[in-house]
Amino acid sequence: MFESPHDLYKSKEWQDLLQTLKLERVNDEGKLICEHCRKEIVKAYDCIGHHKIPLNNSNVNDYNISLNPYNIMLIHFKCHNAIHHRFGFELPKKVYIVYGSPCSGKSTWVNGVATGDDLIVDIDKIWECISFCDKYNKPNKLKANAFEVRNNLIEQVKMRVGNWQNAFVIGTYPLKMERQRLADKLGAELILIECDKEICLSRAKNENWKKYIEEWFENFQL
Ligand SMILES: [Zn+2]
Ligand SMILES: [Zn+2]
Repeated sequence: MFESPHDLYKSKEWQDLLQTLKLERVNDEGKLICEHCRKEIVKAYDCIGHHKIPLNNSNVNDYNISLNPYNIMLIHFKCHNAIHHRFGFELPKKVYIVYGSPCSGKSTWVNGVATGDDLIVDIDKIWECISFCDKYNKPNKLKANAFEVRNNLIEQVKMRVGNWQNAFVIGTYPLKMERQRLADKLGAELILIECDKEICLSRAKNENWKKYIEEWFENFQL
């Protein structure tokens, strides 16, 4: 039994069904094509399963709706926002935790999919706006302040304060327990920005960042 669409999205049944559909729906060239814009969905994390008949707390246990392949479209994340925007009906706020190694492209991806109506909680940006330094230098003496601002925003996300549509909480979250706890607290969906270690390292601007990347890959739990 699912109590809400959020329960469904984190269930094994839903994850398995999405996996199956992604394999079944590739074309003859082995590409997965977005059922909205007809362009290729290149990255797995950029693919979202959209319900044509929208899910709510009362129909989520009707598997003819929630787990019926005919009711599910595989589309780009960005296209998903566009569809929901166009239909214009009042939608519940959605929260995403976007995680992965430093330099994996988390912020870049969020920049590509978010709209001006979305709330972004990004510790790197918070750090930048309260200090004199660029994003590659994080003065340790400001750490408590940066995290206090982030915690305040996380609390706002939890309580759904404000009129935003989607909230994106960006962080590295290598530990499964830690990010699962945050996802449960926020009612959030987890999105892993997968990226090879070598590519992350090649983007690192200094030795400290290389060290953070090495540490993330050592600690990461799927
Ligand atoms: Zn698309
Ligand atoms: Zn949808």
